[in-house]
Amino acid sequence: MSAPYRKGLHHLGHGCHAWLLPDGSWGWSNSGLITGSGASLMVDTLFDLALTREMLDGIRTVTDAHPVRTVVNTHSDGDHVFGNEVLAAYDVEIVASEPAAALMTQEAVDSLAALKRLQGPTGDFARHIFGPFTFDGITATGPDRTFTGVESLDVGGREVRLIQVGPAHTPGDTLVHVPDARLLYAGDILFVGGTPIAWAGPLDRWIAALDRILDMDVATIVPGHGPVSGKDEVHAMREYLVFVESEARKRYEDGLGVDEAIASIDLGAYRDLPEHGRLAQNVLNVYQQLDPSMDRPDRLTVLSRIAALEGFATSA
Ligand SMILES: [Zn+2]
Repeated sequence: MSAPYRKGLHHLGHGCHAWLLPDGSWGWSNSGLITGSGASLMVDTLFDLALTREMLDGIRTVTDAHPVRTVVNTHSDGDHVFGNEVLAAYDVEIVASEPAAALMTQEAVDSLAALKRLQGPTGDFARHIFGPFTFDGITATGPDRTFTGVESLDVGGREVRLIQVGPAHTPGDTLVHVPDARLLYAGDILFVGGTPIAWAGPLDRWIAALDRILDMDVATIVPGHGPVSGKDEVHAMREYLVFVESEARKRYEDGLGVDEAIASIDLGAYRDLPEHGRLAQNVLNVYQQLDPSMDRPDRLTVLSRIAALEGFATSA
């Protein structure tokens, strides 16, 4: 079941819905809604309070009869959890994997807010990509309950399965599977129409998570960013990760430093993907797996490398 890539609520059949936020670039994430009899489960909240409130208004046609009783965060990134505070005001239980929960801190909120106030090109880049979002005033709201492995939830009489596949994109990635709808909410295990970014990795584990999806009996896949998709898009993203893994490994084995490796990889057609500068983090990730003693730069340093690769720092 496909849906036009338009902001707002999309009915995907079998009581499953997506709230899409084009264009899927930094912070423009998707949310999901699964309804059973008299109850709904929300998959992820949005990047700030206003966006999340707007979504709650927009899904009222569904939630009036089937109120949200459960929220599942697919992972710890702010664009999937910063709106939790809004949902916590209702009678809901928030659920996340244990490693994701550990990262859903006030510091995570405050550091993004601080990033937007930073002087210099990295601050300029942060204001460019995060400009539309408001982080000030957000109170970090973690889950009421955590899980590890696989967990089955009952949503108004139907089964929803949470499948922990991280670390991959982040330490605590979770897939949300609705077996009777043959539908999967992939969170940021799937990026469509943009470049994936491996904050945690290793890439092998992410590739394994994609293989797991390919083995599942699902017809419709809602990615964390991008339009409603299917297995073709999973194959396409898998190819990108395999490409980066092999190009980076080759350069590591040839003795190139990580910056040389990043600069020398010819992305070919992947250069046309938005956020292609995320290559910097993805190569870094491969190097860190091959040499665990390597220094791990913080997200700020990574962001400045991404900005440079996309020509932002030099043109700002
Ligand atoms: Zn993410």
